[in-house]
Amino acid sequence: MADLLSIDAALERVLAHARPLEVEDVPLDDAAGRVLAEDALAIVDLPPFASSAMDGFAIRAADVPGTLPVAFRIAAGRTATAPLAPGETSGIATGAPIPDGADTVVPLEVVVDRGNRVEFPSVAIAGSNVRPRGGDLSVGGLVVGAGQTLGPAQLAGLAAAGVGVARCGRRPRVTVLTTGTELRPPGSTLAAGQIYEANGVALAAAFAATGAVVERLASVNDDPDAHREALRRGLEADVLVTSGGVSVGPHDLVRATARELGVEEIFWGVAMRPGKPLAFGVLGDTLVFGLPGNPVSSLVAAELFVRPALLALQGHAQPRPHFEAGELTVALHRSHERDDLVRARARVGEDGIVGLDPLTGQESHMIGRAAGANALVLVPRGAGELAAGSSVRYLRLR
Ligand code: AMP
Ligand code: MG
Repeated sequence: MADLLSIDAALERVLAHARPLEVEDVPLDDAAGRVLAEDALAIVDLPPFASSAMDGFAIRAADVPGTLPVAFRIAAGRTATAPLAPGETSGIATGAPIPDGADTVVPLEVVVDRGNRVEFPSVAIAGSNVRPRGGDLSVGGLVVGAGQTLGPAQLAGLAAAGVGVARCGRRPRVTVLTTGTELRPPGSTLAAGQIYEANGVALAAAFAATGAVVERLASVNDDPDAHREALRRGLEADVLVTSGGVSVGPHDLVRATARELGVEEIFWGVAMRPGKPLAFGVLGDTLVFGLPGNPVSSLVAAELFVRPALLALQGHAQPRPHFEAGELTVALHRSHERDDLVRARARVGEDGIVGLDPLTGQESHMIGRAAGANALVLVPRGAGELAAGSSVRYLRLR
């Protein structure tokens, strides 16, 4: 592992192979969390007609102050049967169309309603409480751009603009395979030398959160035949993610078996801690990530590399990890050779600055402690320490 790639260089190599999958039509009701593949345009003006912003009375602003007869009343979903004549008013509900002839709505709260006549004590500013047609968006206007994830606001925007079906990138199918003879499922009884398998559930959760469709295979022993069979199956997916077995020990079989099955290794080894022995390869269109087995390493590598790949496959405009600015609360030692990803608790201070408290116990097997972290702080390699109060970048852990 002579030439370790930097995190950025490794990520660019991954993304160079993570080209967007096909596009499919998704009904809005099923589109939450999906990535839009093409710009979505409004199919109507929004609002589609001039409407009232208040429950009140439609008037010509020039007719008040004064007392006006009520010509008719308009509910939401109805239209006026005739224009409003000069010197008349009409009752109007929020969202109801402004009748022809009216230019203003006066709220109920500021009039005296006498049944068939209404008293308007004050002057009105023409146009007030009227939502003009197209005041939000014009027909053909951009509602949500290609590459955006559809959350509640985007879905509501599409629905309001008449877009019932979203063109989205297909969800990648990702297979998760954990390796290690020592692994047993949580809930079972451990025999001597065994530990509970922790990576499968973590990786599946991380990938599902990107919108990927996750399949988990049964964990395999450190046995070549078992590896071959499971890897062959996993290679049918868009993305195969393994954990464990990518170091240099005699029982580390993942890379050799993947190579035997035709996987072209693009890189092995990233200058980071934890997660150094990360392997990445391709077979046809399938991306293959060999994550290190230590649970913290596998989680960090999943955040930094697999998650971006899964977003890129869906056509996301910004697949790279989203680092935010924060401040270290204590001094941290730096490595000369590798960037550190330090598990920490992020707290927003009174000044609005995010303070980052590193957890004690930063070894890559310490997943029990890492469970208390909500941030991964990037400590770039360099000489000496990073002083307390240093500005750093961190990744929020969901
Ligand atoms: P490996 O990368 O296979 O050499 O594994 C490194 C360390 O991580 C060893 O201590 C393994 O027992 C442990 N490990 C590997 N896979 C898992 C897993 N799925 N869950 C928990 N620990 C694991
Ligand atoms: Mg192992």
